Amino acid sequence: MSSPDTTPALSAELLEKFTEIVGDTHALTSGADQEPYLVEWRRLYKGKTQLVLRPGTVGEVARILALANETGIAIVPQGGNTGLVGGQIPFGGEILLSLQRLKKIRSLDTQGNSMIVEAGVTLAEAQTAAEDAGRLFPLSIAAEGTAQIGGVLSTNAGGVQVLAYGNARAMCLGLEVVTADGQIWNGLRQLRKDNTGYNLRDLFIGAEGTLGVITAAVLKLWPQPQSKATAFVGMTSVEEAAQFFDIAREMAAGELTAFELMPRIGIDFVIRHADGARDPLESVYPWYALVELSSLRPDEAQPNLEKILMSALEKEIIADAAISSSLSQSENFWRLRENLSEVQLHEGGSIKNDVSVPIAALPRFLNRAVEAVTRLVPGCRPVPFGHYGDGNIHFNVSQPIGMERAEFMAHWNTVVSAVNEIVLDLDGSISAEHGIGYMKRELLTQVKAPVEIAMMRQIKQALDPKGVLNPGKVL
Ligand SMILES: Cc1cc2nc3c(=O)[nH]c(=O)nc-3n(C[C@H](O)[C@H](O)[C@H](O)COP(=O)(O)OP(=O)(O)OC[C@H]3O[C@@H](n4cnc5c(N)ncnc54)[C@H](O)[C@@H]3O)c2cc1C
Repeated sequence: MSSPDTTPALSAELLEKFTEIVGDTHALTSGADQEPYLVEWRRLYKGKTQLVLRPGTVGEVARILALANETGIAIVPQGGNTGLVGGQIPFGGEILLSLQRLKKIRSLDTQGNSMIVEAGVTLAEAQTAAEDAGRLFPLSIAAEGTAQIGGVLSTNAGGVQVLAYGNARAMCLGLEVVTADGQIWNGLRQLRKDNTGYNLRDLFIGAEGTLGVITAAVLKLWPQPQSKATAFVGMTSVEEAAQFFDIAREMAAGELTAFELMPRIGIDFVIRHADGARDPLESVYPWYALVELSSLRPDEAQPNLEKILMSALEKEIIADAAISSSLSQSENFWRLRENLSEVQLHEGGSIKNDVSVPIAALPRFLNRAVEAVTRLVPGCRPVPFGHYGDGNIHFNVSQPIGMERAEFMAHWNTVVSAVNEIVLDLDGSISAEHGIGYMKRELLTQVKAPVEIAMMRQIKQALDPKGVLNPGKVL
């Protein structure tokens, strides 16, 4: 793999200066100590660095960036290292800046429905803090036990409840950011309305660590739902899924908080590889939807969901459905969905596409993409799944049984190009929620208008003129 190689090697003197900022214990130089920071979740990328720094305060982050800017040493910010496009990995020897020790929940305001948390707080910890105060922080992804607030904001993460609450950007009121030259911008405003010029907060969100380092954020909170109901629904075609989604959204009247699509092959993978996973329906169907309703009133979600399912069954839009009657049953439904990414590791090579198209175009996209990839690699096993309600499909393709992994993975570019061609033809996006990072940066210039790329470059130049923040990523 080519590497950006943009940063000069660290001299012994500089290594000592950077180390002095965080102390010896938090400046990692040995291979074994660095390993967890350099290998990412899918093992697609293996990074290299002379130094991993783990600052414990915002002041330390600022001193690190000031020194890096002064000496031209590049920095790669990292949160939980669960990103799926290599954005958090240093390839050219840049310093890896881990935010994992910034772990404070600074305040929680139940009247204003917001909380201020530091970048290294995991998503699960943020959810728990909200829950303990009788509130909901609804951002939810399968990596939530590890992914951190700085990371989810820097990738503008989506997840399973976007159709009800929006993505990470929609859940953030303010930010604290350390700029490329080491200044601390305190933008921790808790305001719901603030039209005072350009929105810098939204620029840093989704910037994948290329414009500044997020050190804390004001997150929006919501009331806790008083009742929830989950159903696992079998369908014979994606056209049925489209019709069922329309009915569910209309009848749920704002209470639809998840509508996830899964193919039969994905359920087979989960049952084969994930402990305790069970098939919720007696018969087998080509497609499944996991549907969840959340209501602010007690005891309402289940009857509302039953009405939706009855209506869809009567109209013969869905083939069968199981509704959860207990928390453990609901957890079993969710386990099937949440394990879908992980279990693909056990089925050999997998070529990944995280794409979105307008919702109405989803059936056309799925039919065309399955046809295209099976024509390119006969015997390959498409596993398209994901956030149907957001028009976002993880169009993953597992290798044919019996083929060598390397032989299959050599098709990565042709398979990705074929899928992207269909996506673009349908006015979709080549990166719905995982971002651009290292993996898709060359694609970006092919799909964006020159004027858009030029504006992005001007922003990068203005905020990071020396190019020390995450070089070789996004642009
Ligand atoms: C099993 C699994 C399921 C997933 N499901 C989803 C999903 O449903 N939806 C979704 O959107 N994503 C999903 N992801 C992708 C990933 O979890 C998200 O991108 C997550 O937001 C990354 O958070 P992190 O803390 O691990 O960030 P990292 O991986 O450490 O970093 C991601 C990017 O953000 C930058 N960054 C990190 N912290 C900071 C900071 N403090 N300041 C500035 N830049 C920073 C890094 O440089 C990098 O470019 C999934 C990943 C896995 C492994």
